[in-house]
Amino acid sequence: MLLLGCHVGFKKDSQLLGSLEEALSYGANTFMFYTGAPQNTNRYPILDGFTIEAMSLMKEKNFDYSKVVVHAPYIINLANDKDPDKFMFSVRFLQEELERCELLGIQSMVLHPGSHVGLGVDTAISNIAKGLNMILGSHPVTILLEVMAGKGTEIGSSLEEIKRIIDLVDDKEHIGVCLDTCHLNDAGYDMSRFDQFLDLFDDVIGIDKIGCVHINDSKNVLGSHKDRHENIGFGTIGFDTLLSVVYNKRLEDIPKILETPYVDRKIAPYKYEIEMIRNKKFDEHLIDEIREKKN
Ligand code: FE
Ligand code: FE
Ligand code: ZN
Repeated sequence: MLLLGCHVGFKKDSQLLGSLEEALSYGANTFMFYTGAPQNTNRYPILDGFTIEAMSLMKEKNFDYSKVVVHAPYIINLANDKDPDKFMFSVRFLQEELERCELLGIQSMVLHPGSHVGLGVDTAISNIAKGLNMILGSHPVTILLEVMAGKGTEIGSSLEEIKRIIDLVDDKEHIGVCLDTCHLNDAGYDMSRFDQFLDLFDDVIGIDKIGCVHINDSKNVLGSHKDRHENIGFGTIGFDTLLSVVYNKRLEDIPKILETPYVDRKIAPYKYEIEMIRNKKFDEHLIDEIREKKN
C-alpha cells in the first residue's frame, strides 16, 4: 500500500493528536514530525492523554502508526568533537529525543549525520559512529541517517560515507537510511534513473536499510550541493521522475514524506500535492490554485 504523507507540526497543546489531525486533513496516511522546534532545545513533557487519543483515532481510521517517523533536531552535530562539551550536548540531546520517541511509540527517527566543520571527513565519520554507539542499543528506536546534499561540510552526501558510518555502528539492527530526492539530486545522483540508483544503493549499503523516503523537488541542478526544496513537479527533478520514486515497487512499504515549501511561506501545499501524486497527473497551475483557494 502506498504510504504518502508529509511533515506536520507538533504543538504543546495538542501534541501527537494534533499532528495526526493535521496529517488527516491533508489526506495523508503517514507523517513525520519534530518533537519540538528543530533549531532549539526547548521541549515540553509528552502528555500521554494526547498519545492515547491519537492511538484510538488511528485505530478507527486504520492508520499504520508503525511507519510514522520523527525527525531529530538539526542543532545536533555528532560529527564535531572540537569542543567535548558540545559533542556531549549533542549525544545527550539525541538520547532525550530517542526517549521521547519511545514514549510516543515511534519506531524510527531521521537524523542528519552532521557537518565536519573543518575536522575532515575521516574524523567526522568516526565521531558520528562514536556518538551513535553511545546511544544505540538502549532503545527500540531505529536511527535513519539521511543522505545529504553536501552543502558546506555536510557528511553523508555519498552512499560511501553513509556506508562507512554504518560499518562502524555496533547495533546494526537499529541503524538505517532515509533517502531524500532533493538531497540526492543536489549531491549528484540522477533521480531520473532511479532504478539504477537503487541497484547502486543495494550494492553499497543494502536496500533493506531504507526506512523512509523524503519526496521533494529541487530548486537546483544535479550536483549543485545546495539543498533547497521545491514543490512537486516545479523543480529540476520533475513530476514523472518523482512519481517513479513514489511508486517504485522495491520501496512499496516505505513511508514517503513530502517536505516541500509552503506557498508564499504560509499555505501548506501538502493536501494538493498528495492529491496530485495520487492522481498521477501533473497540474502546472497547482501553486496558483492553492493561492486562489486561500484568498
Ligand atoms: Fe532532514
Ligand atoms: Fe529531508
Ligand atoms: Zn533538505
